[in-house]
Amino acid sequence: MPSNTFFETPIEFLKGVGPARAALLQKALGIFTFGDFIQYYPFRYDDRTRFLTIAEAHENLPYVQLKGKITHFAAEGEGFKRRLKALFSDGTGNAELVWFHGIQWLLDKLKKNVEYVVFGKPSLFNGVINIAHPEIDLPTERILQGSLQPVYSLTETLRRKHLDSRFMGQAQQELYRQALPHIHETLPHSLLQKYRLLSKRDAIKNIHSPLDGTHLQHAQRTLKFEEFFYVQWRLLKLKLLREEKFRGFVFNDVGLVSEFYKNHLPFDLTHAQKKVIKEIYADMRSGKQMNRLLQGDVGSGKTIAAFICMLLAVSSGAQAVLMAPTEILAQQHYATLKKHADKLNLEVALLTGSIRKKERTPILKSLEEGTLKILVGTHVLIEDKVQFHSLGLAVIDEQHRFGVAQRSKLWQKNQSFYPHVLVMTATPIPRTLAMTLYGDLDVSVIDEMPKGRKPVKTTHCFDSDRLQVFGFMKQQLSEGRQVYIVYPLIEESEKMDLKHLMDGFESISRVFPDVPISILHGQMKPEAKEFEMKRFVAGETKIMVATTVIEVGVDVPNASVMAVENAERFGLSQLHQLRGRVGRGAEQSYCILMTDAKLSSDARTRMETMCRTSNGFEISEADLQLRGAGDLTGTQQSGAINLKIGDLGKDAAILEAARESAREILQTDPQLENPENLPIRRQTENLESTAVNWSRIS
Ligand code: ADP
Ligand code: MG
Repeated sequence: MPSNTFFETPIEFLKGVGPARAALLQKALGIFTFGDFIQYYPFRYDDRTRFLTIAEAHENLPYVQLKGKITHFAAEGEGFKRRLKALFSDGTGNAELVWFHGIQWLLDKLKKNVEYVVFGKPSLFNGVINIAHPEIDLPTERILQGSLQPVYSLTETLRRKHLDSRFMGQAQQELYRQALPHIHETLPHSLLQKYRLLSKRDAIKNIHSPLDGTHLQHAQRTLKFEEFFYVQWRLLKLKLLREEKFRGFVFNDVGLVSEFYKNHLPFDLTHAQKKVIKEIYADMRSGKQMNRLLQGDVGSGKTIAAFICMLLAVSSGAQAVLMAPTEILAQQHYATLKKHADKLNLEVALLTGSIRKKERTPILKSLEEGTLKILVGTHVLIEDKVQFHSLGLAVIDEQHRFGVAQRSKLWQKNQSFYPHVLVMTATPIPRTLAMTLYGDLDVSVIDEMPKGRKPVKTTHCFDSDRLQVFGFMKQQLSEGRQVYIVYPLIEESEKMDLKHLMDGFESISRVFPDVPISILHGQMKPEAKEFEMKRFVAGETKIMVATTVIEVGVDVPNASVMAVENAERFGLSQLHQLRGRVGRGAEQSYCILMTDAKLSSDARTRMETMCRTSNGFEISEADLQLRGAGDLTGTQQSGAINLKIGDLGKDAAILEAARESAREILQTDPQLENPENLPIRRQTENLESTAVNWSRIS
């Protein structure tokens, strides 16, 4: 029987589980098979090697383990108020133990003046240490020796049905006993040696039931390495296959590029811009299809870099598109590119959902005939109706709003060759996340701001400072600047938030009676949004009261103040994006974060981080530390970060090592012919066949 089959056994067949518990585990934790179960790792471990005295125990400890005797116990109360209370003493003091269920069983079992070991969360009640529902054991040798006790993430329903961490731990040990002959090494011996990893068997054993702290650490490191290794293996393999399979256009003609560069470049490019253009050019000439991620902080000048790359494609006779995530952003890109392209007598067209059929038809026609070379648009670009003559380069702005599937739909627009793909993101993401989310892409980074940019001054104010904030805005307005005031709008409380926005709009109208004000929110019709945005861009309105609709990309260099209401409700990367809306011109700009006086410690860290740094990468690192990868903007749907044990915030070093190892082996032995790499061959085959099973289940 191949090992894979064993791990596909339904969990109900594990001794001690059965159909009813299996149903619970499936529903609550998505555990269907032995394989799922064995990979459901503890999220922490309680240190039961330490004993405290009652005198040492205090309510701020997460848990305590005590040794002593019960001097008295009795049941009290009736019905749902019924409880069992026991007085527990160890010579240094007294503690009270309380149980609300299983009372009869305890009444039969507990004995007075016999030594017990109790374990639980202490609280203080009328000056006495109180432990509700402690675990209680006789002081056997095993208990006294102590262990690191695994704690599994479980639901309340599971716990109520006695599927608690203790049950899980015992079931894991039972499964381990049966699984032992089926657990094979998944990594080559040389890697185990090089990184001092445990064997797979020892890793599994120690993750669920650690021998001691050192073994636990080794087990964790081993399983993290293994997990990262196979995520990276898949991504790098994908990249390799694509590079082998997909030829790309070879673009060599730099005619238009030189002309633009010599005669029409509106400013000197930064070193970073030149560097990434070089990297992209090299790809576009290589004969392989480019798949590159361009990262650069808000305002770092990605647009012009992309435009220059589009010129390379156009110069060689191909077409180029720029796809944006929102209508407003597409319009701004269109305006920017048109300004540049006009100088070269190149036509640029805009295609969005609101472009009428009458205008759309000729655009589609000239696109198909190949006379139109540059197109800007929203996701309508990926609709089947849109056919290119020869699409050579697709630039996708703000990647996180598009999925991988959408990216590949664009590739398929061209029959003979896949177009080169450049994905741009203004959400700097930590290296570890980039390697996991975009590990199949090459990465270029613009890590330098255009000269003369003054960093935005950021302050954190409380709601009580509002009058001063208004005073400051007045002064900026009188100097001719424009102001953003942003309100949160988060789906679950949409109605309330809209009311806050409207109330805010009214009070701002009262404070600034003579100032023309725009308002922008997600529930407005696209035409109305566009109208308001245009007025603000043109400087006809001076204050923009808005929700985060303005978050992405919009460029108004004259705006110098970004005030964020209820800033505590925004994530770090969102705040950073918002701040990026100002500081685009020559004037000093300001970001004012307004919050309630009472803040959670996370929210305080966010405000402090914003005030301390304007470096997007630093901010995204802080965001990752605070929230964990699963919560980072736009990454929730990504299966790539559905990790069982690896932590992108904490395990950067392990991830790098695993990626490097995967890359090395792919390079030296891509077909896995070396016997030493047999474990990899077997594991990738296993992973592939399990993937098939998953789709059958869901
Ligand atoms: P982002 O990277 O956020 O998309 P943009 O491409 O919108 O940034 O550029 C922000 C602003 O900076 C634009 O007004 C653009 O014209 C300007 N800009 C870009 N590159 C330079 C440069 N090298 N020198 C001066 N200004 C620049
Ligand atoms: Mg941009």
